[in-house]
Amino acid sequence: MRTCIYGGTFNPPHLGHLAAAKAAVEELQLDQILLMPNQTPPHKVMPANSATPEQRLEMCRLAAELVPNCKASDFELQQPGPSYTADTVERYHAAHPEEELWLLVGTDMVESFHRWRDPARILKHVRLAVVARDEADRESIRAATENLRREYGAGIDILNNPPLPMSSTEVRASRDGSLLPEAVAAYIREHRLYRPSLEELEQRVQGMVKEKRYRHILGCRDTAVELARKYGADVETVAYAALLHDMTKEFSLEDQLKLAEKWNIILDYEQENLPHLIHADTAAAMAREELGMWQAVCDAIASHTVGGEKMSRESLIVYLADLIEPTRAFPGVEALREAAVRDLTEACILATRRTIEFVKSQGREPYYKTAKTLEELMKNTSETEEKE
Ligand code: ATP
Repeated sequence: MRTCIYGGTFNPPHLGHLAAAKAAVEELQLDQILLMPNQTPPHKVMPANSATPEQRLEMCRLAAELVPNCKASDFELQQPGPSYTADTVERYHAAHPEEELWLLVGTDMVESFHRWRDPARILKHVRLAVVARDEADRESIRAATENLRREYGAGIDILNNPPLPMSSTEVRASRDGSLLPEAVAAYIREHRLYRPSLEELEQRVQGMVKEKRYRHILGCRDTAVELARKYGADVETVAYAALLHDMTKEFSLEDQLKLAEKWNIILDYEQENLPHLIHADTAAAMAREELGMWQAVCDAIASHTVGGEKMSRESLIVYLADLIEPTRAFPGVEALREAAVRDLTEACILATRRTIEFVKSQGREPYYKTAKTLEELMKNTSETEEKE
């Protein structure tokens, strides 16, 4: 059995890791390659909102499904506390003496290998499989491996695959889902990992809209948070959604249509409604694609203008907060504010009726989903009344 151990933080596992694993399987004809997340190493500072060891293992499981003969392994996580590679390979060899072993390392790791604890003990049990992280690494790999051969008599195989330059640090900072297997990107979104802080987003949104709209956005966020506390909804979801709901509103229609095309957004609005409504869809897609926001946030952003079917409590709150936040001053807003502290559904019904009236007064036809929203909200109240 030809086995390769591929250790790392995998915070998160990205396409570069998978390309390296695939190359190792093919070039070394491996029976298995094990993505083996380590305990949080003492020399690494883990980023805020970072993944736990269990989450890194789960992401490795999702990623491993994409490479033949690849599996995630909890071998190192089973040991309490950070362990040295020398101990890991020794323990692995003791548990599986019949297996022929490799240890897969990227350029940075092979360069620092002589400084690891007990390189000779590691190399007693494994051959090194070395993968370039960048085409420019070839020369330094040659120099590092020559030294290791000379000093330790290391068995080394250098892989020839074309590298896929990227790092987990870059993935976390850019939140670029295209550097990740889709299943891992979805896991990160739904577990709210590596998410930007609200403060970071405030700055970003402030740079995207005019002063007046920014005040509206902050008002909407504060109102939404207050309502979420009152109605037992997820405060974090509404805070993020309210902060992002209007972030694309001042983009030109042309730019918004380009975003819609880029993110395959289906727009079924009447032509006359499109300029008023498209921002909800582009902001929701931007929240997902560029900021890694979880589904509940994206749903609340998408429904903030026209409503939607089966809206969650968080979506209803953002929808309402958008209309009643303190900078709003249309006739009737006070009645909506009063209703909002009495009953969430009742307030949303009033708000939706008002929106329908308003759109009609502008000589436009309300979007069909808004009428459906009203119908559904009314059904919910009559069902609640029946139960009471
Ligand atoms: P971070 O940016 O958090 O330091 P990383 O991207 O370097 O993370 P690790 O989990 O620390 O990823 O790396 C595990 C192993 O994968 C190391 O041997 C590393 O050299 C290798 N590796 C990481 N990225 C690539 C890549 N793009 N191509 C090939 N090997 C890689």
